[in-house]
Amino acid sequence: MRVKFTAHVGAWALLLLLAACGPEAETGAVFGKYHAPAARKVGQSLNDTIVPPDLQDNKSVEIASNSGAPASQMFAETLHYLLGQFEPARHADFATLGKPYTDKPDMYLRREALAAFKKMYAAAKKEGIVLKIVSATRTFAQQKNIWEGKWSRFAAETPDPQARAQRILEYSAMPGASRHHWGTDIDLNDLNNASFEAGGRFEKVYSWLRTHAHEYGFCQPYSARSAERPNGYNEEKWHWSYLPVATPLLRQYSQSVQDGMLSGFQGAPTARNLSILKHYVLGISPACQ
Ligand SMILES: [Zn+2]
Repeated sequence: MRVKFTAHVGAWALLLLLAACGPEAETGAVFGKYHAPAARKVGQSLNDTIVPPDLQDNKSVEIASNSGAPASQMFAETLHYLLGQFEPARHADFATLGKPYTDKPDMYLRREALAAFKKMYAAAKKEGIVLKIVSATRTFAQQKNIWEGKWSRFAAETPDPQARAQRILEYSAMPGASRHHWGTDIDLNDLNNASFEAGGRFEKVYSWLRTHAHEYGFCQPYSARSAERPNGYNEEKWHWSYLPVATPLLRQYSQSVQDGMLSGFQGAPTARNLSILKHYVLGISPACQ
């Protein structure tokens, strides 16, 4: 797959990889550079603290310790971020979308993802294709609203908690388990597969994305179910993910979060039996891994 991979994102991704692979994974030291609002001034970007990818692990630890925040605190903050328990409006690594990219207010993406989307938007526009973001970053609280709304609506028809959770999981993630928490994923144009298929009003949009999205780092994680993707959400032709940031985050998530940690919403106890991490969070298209 061909992606545009800027130097600072590459360095950042590598640092996360180092964090995941090296001894720092246990101390959480490297996480602090990624998300340690207590140690960073308002408006200071993660990118300001990025170090070249050729630095050794011990250098990363040194830089992290300069932040003054204990490793355990930094790990907790990163975990909160992965689970959507943060405010994108107050996070230095996030930016507001606005027109013409979306018609909705209060929409946020990670800065790297937004910069890549703007390039993709401009390229598509030249060919008469309009990409409109209808959903971007969602917090735990926002996902909880979506989840519990369906939990209530499906109650009468599907009283069994596990069956009800499975029904919601056809298209919606449990709070704490959505890629939308990370600020790397977007929903485009319409939340309806038929709109993107032959005869649909966004048929050309989908065709363009299939051909060109990868040139800007975007991939469709919830592809058609197949032997290669036997588990997970149903296909979502509208959901696109910015891989240069999302891929290291997914790796980090899979090493930091367990099903039993998903809590604080109705139906949460079903997470273990349904293997949310294995079947849903990791149940993405092989092309997006
Ligand atoms: Zn989505």
